[in-house]
Amino acid sequence: MAKTQGIEVSIVVPLYNEEESLPLLVEKTAAAMRPTGKAWELVCVNDGSRDGTAEVLEKLEAKYPELVGVYFRRNYGQTAAMQAGFDAARGSVIVTMDGDLQNDPKDIPALLARMEETGADIVSGWRKERKDAELTSNFPSRMANRLISKITGLKLHDSGCSLKAYKADLLNELHIYGELHRFIPAVAMQYGAKVDEVVVTHHARQFGESKYGLDKTIRVALDIIQLYFFQKFLHRPMHFFGYMGLVLMVPGGVMMTWLLLLKLFGQDIGGRPMLIAAMMLILLGVQLLGMGVLGEVLTRIYHEPQGRKQYVLRKRAG
Ligand code: UDP
Ligand code: MG
Repeated sequence: MAKTQGIEVSIVVPLYNEEESLPLLVEKTAAAMRPTGKAWELVCVNDGSRDGTAEVLEKLEAKYPELVGVYFRRNYGQTAAMQAGFDAARGSVIVTMDGDLQNDPKDIPALLARMEETGADIVSGWRKERKDAELTSNFPSRMANRLISKITGLKLHDSGCSLKAYKADLLNELHIYGELHRFIPAVAMQYGAKVDEVVVTHHARQFGESKYGLDKTIRVALDIIQLYFFQKFLHRPMHFFGYMGLVLMVPGGVMMTWLLLLKLFGQDIGGRPMLIAAMMLILLGVQLLGMGVLGEVLTRIYHEPQGRKQYVLRKRAG
């Protein structure tokens, strides 16, 4: 959608079963944004809630002219809901936030001010005093942050915080799939984004319940592996798979040659474990090389029909 009609800030909130929080959320957001004098909108995406979220949202839409409701037919998950919010958003800055009031809308103006001050493409909230369970949320999140910063060079204390501000033109370049909403800054790093952070308040969940449990940790771990691959090898999968393939095949080949020599000198090699090891190494190596070739083919299919480039420009003269 065209970024026109003078909206400066779009606040995007995904909602799944948040009927109790929603009225308060809209009220607090309005109270925080109206004094800024900016033209803003609040894009609430109902992600196929099973409770009365949709009805509450419809009623609020009549009451608040800044409120834009987007309604899914079924539950698609937080990432899809956020993407739908980005697609509907008209502002040149997009702010994301959770719908459960764990983030405080009061912090939005501070994010915006920081963005203007430093010219950052992304300003992330940092829940310095986080009010979630230590074992299932805080500890895995710290580990994840450390890994992400190793892999992408992203220096954020709390990249999992939903409260963030983005320049809309950057966000429009990104594509987020699966549950990658947690990693938008990390993905954006691949586009050379300038990222900054601001300490924000965090509240314990007042109404409803968290939609995620401990298995989130496993999915986050898998996503980090994915991120690593995309960061380093998206354009050259052969270097990833082929490298591993060679590392296995070369020792396998040496072992096999050795066994062949022994055989030629009349020794019986049928019962030797080395034979099995050598065969496994060679087979695995060939398979990995094959995957590398397939990966290269897929990379071309990924880029060419879409007219995608291997690079993203910030600007071009003229
Ligand atoms: N959410 C959503 N669709 C889902 C799950 C969650 O839109 O399938 C929303 C949810 O309503 C909330 C945000 O995503 O606004 C974050 O979810 P939650 O607070 O449950 O996550 P947590 O804070 O426990 O990580
Ligand atoms: Mg929450």
